[in-house]
Amino acid sequence: MDTRDLSAHVPYEAGRGIEEVARELGRDPDDLLKLASNENPHGPAAAAVDAVREHAGRVNRYPTAAHTDLREAVADRWDVAAGQVWLGPGADGAIDYLSRAALAPGESVLVPEPGFAYYGMSARYHHGGVATYSLTPPTFEQSADAVLDAYDGERMVFLTSPHSPAGTAFDLDDVARVAAMTDKRTLVVVDEAYGEYAPRSSAAPFVGGRSRHLPPERDPFDVATPVVERRDDVVVLRTFSKAYGLAGLRVGYALVPDEWADAYAAINTPFAVNELACRAALAAVDDPAHVQRSVETAVEARVEMRERVEAPVVGSEANFVLVEVGDAAAVAAATKRRGVIVRECSSFGLPGHVRVTCGTPEETDRAVAALNEALREVESRV
Ligand SMILES: *Cc1c(COP(=O)(O)O)cnc(C)c1O
Repeated sequence: MDTRDLSAHVPYEAGRGIEEVARELGRDPDDLLKLASNENPHGPAAAAVDAVREHAGRVNRYPTAAHTDLREAVADRWDVAAGQVWLGPGADGAIDYLSRAALAPGESVLVPEPGFAYYGMSARYHHGGVATYSLTPPTFEQSADAVLDAYDGERMVFLTSPHSPAGTAFDLDDVARVAAMTDKRTLVVVDEAYGEYAPRSSAAPFVGGRSRHLPPERDPFDVATPVVERRDDVVVLRTFSKAYGLAGLRVGYALVPDEWADAYAAINTPFAVNELACRAALAAVDDPAHVQRSVETAVEARVEMRERVEAPVVGSEANFVLVEVGDAAAVAAATKRRGVIVRECSSFGLPGHVRVTCGTPEETDRAVAALNEALREVESRV
């Protein structure tokens, strides 16, 4: 028996795990530095690790209370109603929930190119089509015009702010313009997977929420609260995978318009987020110091890389930078031989770029040295 026709489906290519690369190179994983998947170099918050340990013996139970508590804690932090928080197994899972809730068969989504592969994958799973708008090198600047020029009545429009792999972000005015200029039935999804790292307001005020997620005394950025009109056609995506350091647990969420609150029960896979992930996320929400430190480290690292890498570095508001290196496959291979794993971006349609995650100061130092040596090595070969 066959699966349905999946020929239009593009498989997701994750950055490879450190054990796999160590095996291939015949090296000890501890000697390798993986800066390929935008993971948090400070690990998870200690309180999150304790919470996982503490609740491990109770996973025979469904996560009823933990799931409810996490929705409430996240809602409280953003100052929205609990029903507006759609928890999912990663923000990726929340994207699927949006596809389930919004897309009828044959409807399409508009996504950035280059961009995050999962938007289109999710649309295709749900029998939808995919159209693209472009971000252009060398600056990969984001604007409402680029989106609106490509827009053709799609049901969902994805804005990635900050964008991966470019690191560039949308002004809230541009988000407002895209929402205002597109059809009433077009849902504008602002993916803020890297929102904590950006010195700008979240799009959460469009769903009635606060402009920043961290308490003001813990937020490294002094961001003014924007005056925006509350809307019923904007959704914000956030995750615990990046600034919170919980990528391995798979927990993220969408902040949806009030009007959508009741739809969650109709579309979510029961107990979308598991007990341990909920417990860790609850502890992590209560430990903004860890997020603050993670953000400060990333801000320093991206400045450092921009100053010291001997190739053009795209201005980034996230926990990584995109570097224009020429032959990215060769440069990534040469970096890997020096024990540093960076993301070669041809799967994003950028065969001339690598993406380097911000590490601790020592890790960033090592990454810059390895990358510069690799650049020289590859250049001397041609
Ligand atoms: C990492 C990432 C996500 C979310 O990842 P999850 O681990 O599923 O929460 C979403 N969008 C972009 C652009 C990302 O880089």
